[in-house]
Amino acid sequence: EADRLITADKRGEDVDASLRPQTLDDFVGQKAARANLKVFIEAARGRGEALDHVLFVGPPGLGKTTLAQIMARELGVNFRSTSGPVIAKAGDLAALLTNLEERDVLFIDEIHRLNPAVEEILYPAMEDYQLDLIIGEGPAARSVKIDLAKFTLVAATTRLGLLTTPLRDRFGIPVRLDFYTVDELQHIVTRGARILGLPMAEDGAEEIARRARGTPRIAGRLLRRVRDFAAVAGAEKVTREVADQALSRLEVDSMGLDQLDRRYLTMITSNFGGGPVGIETIAAALSEPRDAIEDIIEPYLIQQGFIQRTPRGRVLTARAWQHMGLEPPQAVTA
Ligand code: ADP
Repeated sequence: EADRLITADKRGEDVDASLRPQTLDDFVGQKAARANLKVFIEAARGRGEALDHVLFVGPPGLGKTTLAQIMARELGVNFRSTSGPVIAKAGDLAALLTNLEERDVLFIDEIHRLNPAVEEILYPAMEDYQLDLIIGEGPAARSVKIDLAKFTLVAATTRLGLLTTPLRDRFGIPVRLDFYTVDELQHIVTRGARILGLPMAEDGAEEIARRARGTPRIAGRLLRRVRDFAAVAGAEKVTREVADQALSRLEVDSMGLDQLDRRYLTMITSNFGGGPVGIETIAAALSEPRDAIEDIIEPYLIQQGFIQRTPRGRVLTARAWQHMGLEPPQAVTA
């Protein structure tokens, strides 16, 4: 796993919990998604029915888990949480499902990592609120059907492409989350500073927001590190200058790129002349798992227009060359 300070993975998530918004109205950004969810939640509440199954898609740290929790709270139901890789056997999922009460939210993170035998169990559960289980083995085996409470499955994935079509088709409400704007992140940082009791100047919050890779989880991490730095430096207030000094120390550059991002870009310039280069080659050259590169590093670089995915592999844009202070080769004009 990519070991980076600003990684969007969930280590230390208990610490982040204090910054989690508790209601849809507190949740900053993702305006379209929020507006849709609000309508669906109100409709389901009004009818007293379980909400249709929801699939959140988007890079790590954008608020998928947070939104799932908020939905359960606004629906006034229990929130149960697990993740794809944790459910090893069909029986594990069966146990979870049979314990649900009417209209409960079951959250499955990283649903693309569900094992196929478990996925089979999920289909009739989602569709007909039924469990089809095979009991016993060989000629004595028989199938039993168990009725389940009408629940809502809320699932999250970083990679829609890794979901099987039958699974994808069973979600009535697909919701895509995008990277946050600097404005939105500035709101989040300001709110976070207030919760932490940290005096924050407007330009300080903006600086952290600009360098948070479009990701609230990273904004939260950076905020904590800046707070430590400010305390040690004896700064009374986090100004742009204080934020900049702290973030530069952490080797987060002016665009929010960290060491791993820069290793990625440098490797493609110096070893592959800017590309095109295939993902497997990149993974081998960086000694990082392909998944981590595709889930964590590339989405932001693509969104920022630093790389392009082409059929022949990844290609750096002129913007990437410029960001690294290099002259792009003649062929790169974009
Ligand atoms: P994901 O499930 O997409 O990986 P999470 O829901 O765990 O992301 O969010 C990561 C952290 O970022 C949370 O702990 C929360 O503090 C913060 N966060 C996410 N979205 C928002 C938001 N819209 N406003 C404020 N904080 C947020």
